[in-house]
Order: sequence, then C-alpha cells, then structure tokens
Amino acid sequence: YNRDRQIETAMNLLLGVIADDYTGATDIASTLANQGMRVIQVLGVPPQSFAGGDAQAIVVALKSRTNSPSEAVDWSLQALRWLRARGANQILFKYCSTFDSTATGNIGPVADALMDALDCRFAFVCPAFPDNHRFVYQGYLFVGDKLLAESSMRDHPLTPMLDSSLLRLLQAQSSKRVGLISHETVRQGVGAIRDRIEVLRDAGNSYGVVDVLSNADINTLGEVAAQHTFVTGGSAIAAGVASSLRNSGRIDTRVAERLPAVGGRALVVAGSCAAATLRQIAAAPPDWARCKIDLDVLHEAGFDIEPVVDWAGRQPGDLPVLVYASSTAEEVAAMQAKHGVKNAGQMIERALADITVRLVSEGFGRLIVAGGETSGAVLTALAIKALHIGPRIDPGVPWTTTFGEPPLALALKSGNFGRDDFFQHAFTLLDNFLAQPEPEVSRPRD
Ligand code: ADP
Repeated sequence: YNRDRQIETAMNLLLGVIADDYTGATDIASTLANQGMRVIQVLGVPPQSFAGGDAQAIVVALKSRTNSPSEAVDWSLQALRWLRARGANQILFKYCSTFDSTATGNIGPVADALMDALDCRFAFVCPAFPDNHRFVYQGYLFVGDKLLAESSMRDHPLTPMLDSSLLRLLQAQSSKRVGLISHETVRQGVGAIRDRIEVLRDAGNSYGVVDVLSNADINTLGEVAAQHTFVTGGSAIAAGVASSLRNSGRIDTRVAERLPAVGGRALVVAGSCAAATLRQIAAAPPDWARCKIDLDVLHEAGFDIEPVVDWAGRQPGDLPVLVYASSTAEEVAAMQAKHGVKNAGQMIERALADITVRLVSEGFGRLIVAGGETSGAVLTALAIKALHIGPRIDPGVPWTTTFGEPPLALALKSGNFGRDDFFQHAFTLLDNFLAQPEPEVSRPRD
C-alpha cells in the first residue's frame, strides 16, 4: 500500500465490485477500465487506511469460490462494509460467466447475504458474456454452441458444472426465489424489463435470471441495472452498467490511469487445465523453455522446488519461460483419484506459487498466470495487495501492475480466456506498451 499518499475520501467512487476469484476480478476490472473508468483491484479486504487514489471503481478480489459458504459470506460482507465506507453506492457481485460453483455452491448464499445487508429486494442474475460466447436463453447457459453441462466445464477439476439451468443452479443455493426475465422481454426494452421485475417481485421472487444473446441486450439491461443498488453477474453486465454511467456523463474519461514501467524476465505459470489454456501451452513458441510440473515427482522429492528454479535460471534471459501443471482431463482424473480432488489442486497451486515467488526473487518481473485458483495462490504467496489495471490483452484479461516497489507486471488469465497464441501476444503487447517514450503511459481506450 502506498502509505505516502493521503487517505482520500473516495468521492469519485461510483461502483464497488465484490468478485469471488482473482482472475474474475481482473476480468471485470479490465472491462470497467475499457469503459473509461479508473479502476484498481484490491486482493482481499484492505485496512481502512488503504489509499486507493481517485478510482471510480474498486474491485475487491476474494478467493471465495471454493471455500465453505459461511467463509465466503463472511468475507463478502467484510468487502461490502469496506466498499460502503469508501462511498460506493452501487455494488456488483461478480461470479464466473460459467456460473462456477461447487454442489454446496457459494453464489446463492453470498448473493442472499449481500442483498439483505444492502436492504434490497431484487437483483439481476446475469453471468452472460457475449464477447466470450457465453449466452443465456430461457435461463439456460450456453458456452458457444454447447449447453454449460455439455461444455468442457463439466470436467473442471474443482467446480464441474453438471446442470445448465441457471434457475435450478441458483435456486438450489439460495433461500430466496429465482425467476426468469426471458429474451422476449429483454428484446422489448427497458420498460418491459422494469415491468417484468415488478411482476417477479409481486410473485415473491428476489432474483431475475436474464436471457442475453448479444451486447445489444447487455446495453439495454445495463440501463436498468445502473439504477439498481445491487447487481449480480459477470463482466458483460458490468460493461452495460458502466456504459450507462458514461452515457449519463458520470464517468470522467479524461483522466487516464498511469502505470509504472516494469522490468524483469518473462514467465508463464499455468495451473489451469481448461481447454483454452492447454491450447495456449501447445501454441507457445518452440524456443521458449518449458517445464511440466508432475505432482508425483514433486511429492517424491518432498516438494523441493529448487531444481525448477535452477532450471529456469539456466534458460536464455531474453525469452519467456513456461512452468505448468496443466493436464488433460484424464491425467487430472488420475491425479485426483490418487491424492483427492482438493488436495491435488492445492498441492499443485502451492508448488506453482512457491516456484513463482522464488523466480521473482531471481529477477522475473513480467508474469502471466493462467488459472483462477492458481492466480489466487500466486498473488497470495507474492503478498500482492493491489493492482492498477492497464491495457487489455484479450477480453477479460488486462496487463496490470502491482502496488509497491518494485512493481511487477501481471496478467492473470482465467483458464478458458484468451486466443491460442495468448502468451506471445501478451508479451509483445507489453513490450510495445513499455517501449513508449514516456516511462509512464496512459491506457488505450476502446
Ligand atoms: P481455471 O481458471 O481453468 O478454473 P484454476 O487454477 O482455477 O483454473 O483451477 C485449476 C485447478 O486444477 C487448480 O487447483 C490446479 O492446482 C489444479 N490442477 C492443475 N493441474 C492439475 C493436475 N495435473 N492434476 C490435478 N489438478 C490439477
């Protein structure tokens, strides 16, 4: 935290976001930045003395997706109190566009608790993200042309999604009633949506799952959601809200975020087993050195990570180094059968985080981390407390720089995000970005 700065009353703070994992938080932060907002992301709930500058949106990133519901509720309420104390009047609860949650899921309990604490009677449920091909129709969530439960999400190591109905998924987790705002209504516009909300409320519903097929739908919903104290969903609805705030002149887009220049060697750390991450590893240039972390080997070696650190140190300094545990669904299943689902995941996260900490101490400073849980583990191990949000690499993934000295450049990539040549594309973008004549550069705009 920057202790030199005065603690400012955040008069500019328009929107407070509570996100249930770190890459999801970065995704929404990037979306808001692309709408012209000055955005910072804090990791966990900071002390009240935290100086956040003149951010218009603050995203509190929690690592609460796979924790016990009571822990997730506790942390989310703490985040809410912190954001409210800083002047946030509007709160958005961010979860994944694939509604990632375990069978004892946290989305319902957290949304219920936030709604009660805010004394609200209704909230949208809008995970849809058209830019990333997540659509909702009749309350069913689609990933591209597949229903959620038929997509690769059914094989997720921690949160396998085996139902595609958002109404059923949320109803099973919530003590409040969940209804549908169908596409037929959304298509008719703002007035029809407001009327439908009234109908849903009168029938005792607290949530409205919204159908979304396009960004036009998102913009319509954003207009309505901008008037709501509490909204739940993904990055797209956040963009809709921000766009509505901007159209009403409430976002001052003239003041660009300034990011520091960042040096250091380039590293990719991947713990995600998502299809996109597997493709990205395969597509990394052949001259980049790579090391696959095998849990069994690591286990036998008593979790000694120094051989990996030594190996990385011997690689050419001008090329990125790739360290990954990412494996196919069959390999993951075998590993989980042997060590247990949670245990296998945590041991790998721990190892990747420890390796990253050591490599940063050895001069690595520009990092891509693939995987939500993996990013959480890495950020925690690096004791990073807050991030400035910089230019967008791909939808949902910006470059960020860390608060503190010296800053690191970090790209935190949710497993399924990014083009196939994401790693190379990201580092090229960062090189160009940092090669600007000014050491401090402003953020590009859409
Ligand atoms: P995503 O963003 O794709 O969901 P996460 O990092 O959130 O990625 O989750 C991936 C989980 O899978 C992590 O807990 C990670 O440690 C675990 N994992 C990675 N490789 C393996 C493997 N080979 N076997 C079992 N679990 C693995």
